[in-house]
This record gives sequence, C-alpha cells and structure tokens, in this order.
Amino acid sequence: MLYPTPIAKLIDSFSKLPGIGTKTATRLAFYTIGMSDEDVNDFAKNLLAAKRELTYCSVCGNLTEEDPCVICTDETRDKSTLLVVEESKDVTAMEKIQEYHGLYHVLHGLISPMNGVGPDDINLKSLIHRLMDSEISEVIVATNATADGEATSMYISRVLKPAGIKVTRLARGLAVGSDIEYADEVTLLRAIENRTEL
Ligand SMILES: [Zn+2]
Repeated sequence: MLYPTPIAKLIDSFSKLPGIGTKTATRLAFYTIGMSDEDVNDFAKNLLAAKRELTYCSVCGNLTEEDPCVICTDETRDKSTLLVVEESKDVTAMEKIQEYHGLYHVLHGLISPMNGVGPDDINLKSLIHRLMDSEISEVIVATNATADGEATSMYISRVLKPAGIKVTRLARGLAVGSDIEYADEVTLLRAIENRTEL
C-alpha cells in the first residue's frame, strides 16, 4: 500500500534512527500525525535546536553548547587524570556518580579490527596530541568490556606507556560485554576505585 507522500517521508525519517525498522517507523509516523500541533511543533523545534546548538568540544570531544566544554574549562578539576570513554553518554554516567573529578576524552567509537575500524577512524589522534606538554600523569581507559573495548584499551596502553604515562583500566566489576552507560552507580564507583594498571 502506498502512503501519501508526507507520511511516507516521515516513515523514511523515523526508519533512519537506530533500532527502528519499517514497522516501528510506520507506527511512530502515524502516532506523530495524531499528536497535537503544539507537541509536533516542539518536537520539530527540539530536533533542530539539538542539532544546531550542540557541538563537539575541540579539546575532549564531548558534546557541548560551548567550546571548550564546561569540564575542560573548569579550573577546579584534577588535571592530572584523564578518563577515556567511547561516547558522550559515558561522560554523563561518570559525572552522575560524582566521584571522578579529572578530565575526559571521548573517542566517538572503538577500534574494531573485525569491522576494519582502526586508530585513525576514531578520536584518538587528538588524545595523543593532548597528552604532549600536559600535566596528565594517568589515563584511565573506561571503554566497555567488549572485544572492541579491549582492543582499544590495549592500543592506548601500547602508545602511551613509552611516554611514561600510567595507563589503567576499569576493574572487572563491570560484567563482560556490559555498557558503562547502564552500569549502576555502585558498580561504576567500584570499577574506578579498583582500576588496574595496564
Ligand atoms: Zn571538553
């Protein structure tokens, strides 16, 4: 069955989101049509604003409204420790537990030999660049406990250790294959406290 063009386009847009198949996209599109004008307006405005007003911090790669971001410019943060995460969402998860006060670096991906993703395909060069002439003495690799997370942490350790930087990895409190984003606060806290040197 052919849908009228506006709804076909809306279905197409929804189906570009991760985890949304044609069936779900169709359901969401029809749901949207049934929403109030005000809600649809807000939805569209929020989509555009999020895209327009957010950028990636030129220092750490985190999603931010101002560049550099509030964490990078915060003078009270411990500038000797840097925690490396896969995504901006992981920074939020770490900040929520309020126990880590150092700096961050967001990779926007992981090295994945299986999928042909190498060190140059993620935000790694700027990390190495950042560590030159900095006060950072410890880098904590907080990538998820997956094969790609391991590959990434091994690579970082191999590159940074000769430069005399201590490289540690979150402790195994995190279940194998688990996402930092979904770890509960106690688990995350313990993982930082019991981090191991690579
Ligand atoms: Zn930043």
